[in-house]
Amino acid sequence: MRVLIIGGGIGGLTTALALHAAGIDCEVFESAEEVKPLGVGINVQPHAVRELIELGLGPRLAATGIATQEVRYANRFGQTIWSEPRGLAAGYRWPQYSIHRGRLQVLLWETAVERLGAAIHRGKRLVDFSQDADGVTLRFADGGTARGAVLIAADGIHSIVRQHFYPDEGPPRWEGCLLWRGTTLAPPYLSGASMVLAGNRDRKFICYPIAREPDGQVLTNWIAEERYAPGTAWAREDWNRRGQAADILPMFGDWHFPWLDVPGLIQGAPAIYEFPMVDRDPLPRWTQGRVTLLGDAAHPMHPIGSNGASQSILDARWLARQLVQQPTLDAGLAAYEAARRPATAAVVEANRGDGPDRVLDMVHARAPSGFTDLDTVIPPEELVAVAAGYKHIAGLDPAALNGRESWSVPGGLRDIAMK
Ligand SMILES: Cc1cc2nc3c(=O)[nH]c(=O)nc-3n(C[C@H](O)[C@H](O)[C@H](O)COP(=O)(O)OP(=O)(O)OC[C@H]3O[C@@H](n4cnc5c(N)ncnc54)[C@H](O)[C@@H]3O)c2cc1C
Repeated sequence: MRVLIIGGGIGGLTTALALHAAGIDCEVFESAEEVKPLGVGINVQPHAVRELIELGLGPRLAATGIATQEVRYANRFGQTIWSEPRGLAAGYRWPQYSIHRGRLQVLLWETAVERLGAAIHRGKRLVDFSQDADGVTLRFADGGTARGAVLIAADGIHSIVRQHFYPDEGPPRWEGCLLWRGTTLAPPYLSGASMVLAGNRDRKFICYPIAREPDGQVLTNWIAEERYAPGTAWAREDWNRRGQAADILPMFGDWHFPWLDVPGLIQGAPAIYEFPMVDRDPLPRWTQGRVTLLGDAAHPMHPIGSNGASQSILDARWLARQLVQQPTLDAGLAAYEAARRPATAAVVEANRGDGPDRVLDMVHARAPSGFTDLDTVIPPEELVAVAAGYKHIAGLDPAALNGRESWSVPGGLRDIAMK
């Protein structure tokens, strides 16, 4: 059985590594001619880090990202609302990594090439596919074709496979929030590995370090968000569209916290990218015959709660396990979808309600000009409930994750982890 994977992003490449480790023959087709470290920072949560470590990627991850130690929520004056330890410090058996998205993709690409060799293709843009009783045939823009038993579409938010199955779906759903993203070399702040979310859902600033530099500075990833009135015109989402510091400084120019210089971070970025915060409604079905969706193709979500890449990694590992453990291919695909579709739909839904960032909105509504005593604004148990509720939805409850069995398929994976 040969599994064909469209898309060499984080989801597609993890799928290839997971299938290979489970002893399943597979091939990846990525449209880009060259895999370059594009994008800015993302977070990989402990449940997804566990999967990557069990695929033997622990040392490379540790050398590429920063193990996040805490998350801190603050108002737009820099007053702390909530902070909690993250990753190992929070009692997980696996760290959380803040990491450059493109460097993670390159790390996965290089590992996939090392392990799967000629089965990893670039410059192969899928334009069409068809299926019959025996499998799936792919057709590429360069005129080439490929044939396999199954197609996994990990081709991102503009998935043409999803569009094939849902031709009337239209563009992703935008509720008026624009994101500007950048990375800036800056001195470390707080713990040196702190993720900060400040403001509220109408105007928010997020930052976290993603790499340590030899001179003691940290490469700090930041995201500035602004919400516009419904109906405002917007440009089609493109991860590589450039923005300007002048677009956002009027909104964040006076956000000088005692421990963080927000305008300094914005001004120091060599490049700024603009992206609308979009998602899509959860689908009633991912699998049609021998074709299924994975990652952003299946469940694009608001980048809140740091879950986009993590959920695609979980998809990949669960899919590989089910393809091995279920008695037939069709049963494997069904078991994959039965678990992952409702799980990710719940995260899409929670992120629309601002996920764990809801504490910012609650405090802003009650104390828009700041506070002297936080407990009179919001009781600690309310803060605890929001954080715990989201962890439960996202599958991030520490005790549940630490206690659950490995998704590794006995045999092959242990061999890879030891290499
Ligand atoms: C260039 C880029 C930059 C990004 N930057 C950020 C960021 O800064 N912050 C953030 O939170 N998220 C970012 N993302 C999204 C993030 O990577 C995903 O949300 C998450 O990792 C899930 O990944 P995925 O593999 O499902 O989708 P993606 O990461 O989108 O990967 C999809 C892959 O499929 C390929 N592809 C698409 N169509 C075809 C086709 N027809 N044939 C063959 N291959 C195809 C694409 O080139 C891409 O490599 C970015 C995505 C991309 C592509």
